[in-house]
Amino acid sequence: MRRKKLIVANWKMHPGSMAEARSLFGKTKRAGSRLEKVETVICPPFAYLGAFAHGGTSRVFLGAQDVFYSNSGRATGEVSPEMLRDLGVTHVIVGHSERRALGETNELVARKAVAVLAEGMQAIVCIGEKERDEGGAFYETLKVQLKESLQGIARRFFIDLIIAYEPLWAIGKSAKEASTPKDVQEMSIFIRKVLTDLYGKEAAQQPSVLYGGAVEEENAGAILSSGGVQGLLVGHKSLDAEAFARILKSANAV
Ligand code: PEP
Repeated sequence: MRRKKLIVANWKMHPGSMAEARSLFGKTKRAGSRLEKVETVICPPFAYLGAFAHGGTSRVFLGAQDVFYSNSGRATGEVSPEMLRDLGVTHVIVGHSERRALGETNELVARKAVAVLAEGMQAIVCIGEKERDEGGAFYETLKVQLKESLQGIARRFFIDLIIAYEPLWAIGKSAKEASTPKDVQEMSIFIRKVLTDLYGKEAAQQPSVLYGGAVEEENAGAILSSGGVQGLLVGHKSLDAEAFARILKSANAV
């Protein structure tokens, strides 16, 4: 498992201009470069990726928010894994809930993850329940998501596999409405248990597990120190360079 904390900035469909993107990238890169115990991944929209090609450092990495599942074929509007790798992209988010809401299935997510890993990049596979029911049916939902979204990934790639647990009910909310560190810890144990059942103990220890959903300055440190996760996926707060820098700093202090 990784030694450093992995903090992923998912800019989603922001900011609205190249000038703002350059400014945000520069500030975040400067903040991340100062930290010894954190790996920062910046995932801008595709439209800006070329401008930051090979713009990473040994501590700050370039990520993508999605990818096509193949390097060939007729696929208007899509971006292939090899194109991303050629730009110096090292991490790719697949199966984000906002992509799943547009129709992306577990099967498609798995194909994308396989393609990303085959290209030598790290795949950040997102899973998460829409809501929590008292009967605990959401555990089964997560189990199925995990099993089907990882279908076809060989164990030798597990070291480059990252599971991002992002409960949909927390995404976009404030820290007060996020999962508590205790809940996150419970879910990280559950995810490891499902991985162990599916792939055996040794392989199950290899992927990193991240938490995402309403991570702000107020809860980042506590989730990292007692949530049992190796990092965070940060949405709206990654667009605020100063707030995100403080999240990075608190990760470095864990
Ligand atoms: C996300 O969409 O991946 C996310 C974590 O969003 P937010 O931090 O805004 O909840």
